[in-house]
Amino acid sequence: MKDCNCIFCKIIDGKIPSAKVYEDDKMLVFKDIEPKAKVHLLAIGKDHFKLLSEMDKDRAELLSHMFSKIPQIAADNGCQNGYRLVINQGDDAGQTVFHLHIHILGGEQLPW
Ligand code: 5GP
Ligand code: ZN
Repeated sequence: MKDCNCIFCKIIDGKIPSAKVYEDDKMLVFKDIEPKAKVHLLAIGKDHFKLLSEMDKDRAELLSHMFSKIPQIAADNGCQNGYRLVINQGDDAGQTVFHLHIHILGGEQLPW
């Protein structure tokens, strides 16, 4: 992570500022800089990898941890009435940051 030229690793390291809403030893959640819904958070793990296809046991445990935390984080940040999770994978999905991240969208009725 230290020598990684990745914008989200830099956010984890505090080299780029972000509006953090949750942090623990394994993950960070912060507000998306260009929100696509009233509430738009990004959940990232403190382990740099790009795609679900790079999954191994440790990464599976990390994602399990992240998914277990997200419901409370969403509820605490204005998504009491539901929310949508999005994980863009690769070019056709429009992935722009190549550090696996989970979009948390809500705070309003979302269009499909
Ligand atoms: P992707 O398109 O890769 O699934 O999502 C990347 C997301 O990261 C986009 O929604 C974009 O707005 C957000 N983003 C990119 N750079 C930054 C940044 O420096 N800070 C924050 N908070 N969000 C960012
Ligand atoms: Zn990274």
